[in-house]
Amino acid sequence: MTHDQRVIRAAAPVIGEEEIEAAVRVLRGGMVAQGPEVAAFEEEFSKFVDGRHCVAVNSGTSALHLSLMALGIGPGDEVIVPSFTFAATANAVRLVGATPVFADIERDSFCLSPRAAEAAITPRTVAIMPVHLYGHPAAMGPLTALAEQHSLAIVEDAAQAHAASLDGTPVGAFGSAACFSFYPTKNMHSLEGGMITTGDAATARTLRLLRNQGMEQRYANEIVGFNVRMTDVAAAIGRVQLRSLAAWTRQRRANAAALDAGLRGVVTPPVAPGAEHVYHQYTIRVTAESGRDRDTVSRELQKRGVGNAVYYPTPVHRLAPFRTGEKVLGYAAGDLPETELAAAEALSIPVHPMLTAQELERLTATVNEVVGGPA
Ligand SMILES: *Cc1c(COP(=O)(O)O)cnc(C)c1O
Repeated sequence: MTHDQRVIRAAAPVIGEEEIEAAVRVLRGGMVAQGPEVAAFEEEFSKFVDGRHCVAVNSGTSALHLSLMALGIGPGDEVIVPSFTFAATANAVRLVGATPVFADIERDSFCLSPRAAEAAITPRTVAIMPVHLYGHPAAMGPLTALAEQHSLAIVEDAAQAHAASLDGTPVGAFGSAACFSFYPTKNMHSLEGGMITTGDAATARTLRLLRNQGMEQRYANEIVGFNVRMTDVAAAIGRVQLRSLAAWTRQRRANAAALDAGLRGVVTPPVAPGAEHVYHQYTIRVTAESGRDRDTVSRELQKRGVGNAVYYPTPVHRLAPFRTGEKVLGYAAGDLPETELAAAEALSIPVHPMLTAQELERLTATVNEVVGGPA
């Protein structure tokens, strides 16, 4: 391969000099467990979610788990979730002993359909968990109205959507609680980590207790809790990354605009009116009408040095832990038609801010060549 033919990576987590220096500074200081860096990270992150309370934890999954627990959701409760998501969303529901009820998505946004969510409500429903998938905000207007009408909590899964917004409101500022992930491939990272945001001070306090063995004062345990604390090393890295988030988001959006303009023969991702998409993924659809098969396109791109990925090939409701022994779910093939279609058509191609202009051009040309070439 020539220099130009280097593989274009699907994701490029940044661990730069600043991140390394921040980590070393904390390590040399010797106080590495949850401390002042975590507190500062929470305060700084709060500016991205309209000043809501922020509670840092060790992963996005812990954030989801604790949020449901803090809201008192448990056995006998049903929580409406999309099936077209990462399994962590539904795992969190099961981890508190509640039942995930899977609802279909909207074709354009890939996010939970308010109409499907409404149809899934039963007397046992206590919450809705919209996922801002790929960085596109879910339809929070109708979902919030639905939740109010039926007295349901909303827990946003914002793991892929740092700094996305809808009609000027940032994701993370809609729900009773919202959860972000700082896994390395997300729009920003802290090696591993998560953040819960909430507008309710009492919920924030419960979350802080759950994070740390149920203690606020050492050895004055108030409730049963976990150890899902974030380290100060992770928080120091997260703080550095947070400073670049706005610029990286602008670059993701510019890259997406270039792809929108340059791609042929595939469905590019539409953006809902009022939505600020942050393109955690740039996800195209390879449709039957195009005469191309998604998996073949994926393999051909890989062969030509263009990294790509299928998120998600199997909808969660068909994964082993969720399809067995769950009579209440009782899904049949075709019950979630938009979910099944997305699982067959979606293909995520690189959009990350580390792409060079040259890579972006080669990426566009290669996709057009693979999709437009002879069958
Ligand atoms: C990454 C992700 C999570 C889980 O976050 P972790 O930090 O990996 O635990 C949850 N939901 C969605 C939609 C995600 O993409």
